[in-house]
Amino acid sequence: MATITRFAPSPTGYLHIGHAYSALFTAALGDEFILRIEDIDQTRARPEFYDAIYEDLKWLGLTWAEPVLKQSENMPAYQAALDQLSAMGVLYPCDCTRKDVNESADAPHGPEGKLYTGHCRHKTLADMAEGQNYALRLNIDKALDYIQTPLTFHDRTAGKIEVDPHLLGDVVLARKETPTSYHLSVCVDDHAQGINLVTRGDDLLYACHIHRVIQALLKLDEPEYHHHKLLYDHEGKRFAKRNHSVTLRDIRAKGFSVNDVKDMIDKGDYLTRLGAVGL
Ligand code: GLU
Ligand code: ZN
Repeated sequence: MATITRFAPSPTGYLHIGHAYSALFTAALGDEFILRIEDIDQTRARPEFYDAIYEDLKWLGLTWAEPVLKQSENMPAYQAALDQLSAMGVLYPCDCTRKDVNESADAPHGPEGKLYTGHCRHKTLADMAEGQNYALRLNIDKALDYIQTPLTFHDRTAGKIEVDPHLLGDVVLARKETPTSYHLSVCVDDHAQGINLVTRGDDLLYACHIHRVIQALLKLDEPEYHHHKLLYDHEGKRFAKRNHSVTLRDIRAKGFSVNDVKDMIDKGDYLTRLGAVGL
């Protein structure tokens, strides 16, 4: 069976060396390599970052099938998944603010912050006031009624892992103004695009616990996973757009070639080599 992989950046900044590592890693593992743009958060996406993604990946020597799926243009598919979950009775509207959730003193911490423990579980859309913003959360206990447990997933680095369905509490799967979320759209798209090997940084390993639940509820195919290490900057922080990481454009502007970039990633001496030219 052909291995189909995808690289799925968000157009919220320029790609950095951590993205180069991830994209090259992903392309090398796939017989077919798909590029997908994860731009459901239109408040953070900017036109110049879309073009820069294409330009930087081409510079790395990558090619992909056109047209590229942009999640912002795929809302009907997420709405259909949401309707299906809604008909199963596993969603409920929650009008708690982020502050309410963060200040719920007795709630334990999860991988995405304070766990939401179901305060609004009894609410229905009729309880939401006109013009009120709300989130649609998954009632994980109801969801489990539809699923054969234990679920598992297989990661090429971490091995076989048993799913802990409660790890993320009652997750937000959509908001009133955006009928999807990262967790929902990634599961819908990976299935629709036939992705059978999902690769990404190991900071997202935890997400498999909820992705397997969503896949089981919606009867989506189970991919294999290969989470990879992250690259770290001079301060020992992972490369991320927010901490002004060295971008591929900065690296290019300093005269490094693609082979230089591949070589510094392979040897792991990118900090020294980039540091030597002031990056
Ligand atoms: N869009 C995510 C990111 O930019 C990738 C998520 C995934 O690969 O599942 O980090
Ligand atoms: Zn609530």
